Amino acid sequence: MTRVALSFDNGPDPDVTPAVLDVLRDRGVAAQFYVLGKWLADPRCRRLVERARDEGHTIGNHSFGHAVPLGEDPRPDAVAIEIAATEALLAPLWPGARRFRPFGGGGVIGRHLLSPGAVDYLVAHRYSCILWNSVPRDWIDPAGWPARALADCAAQDHTLVVLHDVPGACLPGLPGFIDAVRAAGFEFVCDVPAACAPIVDGRITGDLAALVGTPAIARLPTA
Ligand SMILES: [Zn+2]
Repeated sequence: MTRVALSFDNGPDPDVTPAVLDVLRDRGVAAQFYVLGKWLADPRCRRLVERARDEGHTIGNHSFGHAVPLGEDPRPDAVAIEIAATEALLAPLWPGARRFRPFGGGGVIGRHLLSPGAVDYLVAHRYSCILWNSVPRDWIDPAGWPARALADCAAQDHTLVVLHDVPGACLPGLPGFIDAVRAAGFEFVCDVPAACAPIVDGRITGDLAALVGTPAIARLPTA
């Protein structure tokens, strides 16, 4: 059976996440939410994490500021500022296994995603690192993304789709997409394709060479 897992990045958003959670609840789909630390100062956003957790979804860390990908971030304390600070905010809200989803470049997978320090941190703190294998670009095309996502699902045995619970992104197309996935005979699952998890509970299981940059060197002039 073709399997489809849904993930929602860059929230929680007080205006959008409640509606996304309503759609998932009404259709009986459990998903993954990769949240930003910068939103968790807002009690409305913390309550949305709690609601998602209580409704059976999985919560992960998607960095604090979502500004500079870790593999390009020259700050010596980037890992503390981006991963550890978000972990501290999530800890009271999410008792489950730790997940980190790196960000960068509109869903492009490459050496900008992680730094050596980030890998060390994720291993030491027993994180799973969760990537993706479908980025239908909902934030650019809120009406057209479902067709691309459905094509990705049809082309792979197990697809982990990245969507965004932020304004102007996946929400308008979400109910129809879920219905179309089921009409196609595909099954919604919570588990992650093995190829999308290069670190599992602190164990390196994938080839990190293609995912880890060296920020200091990347900053040297090239001309
Ligand atoms: Zn993101």
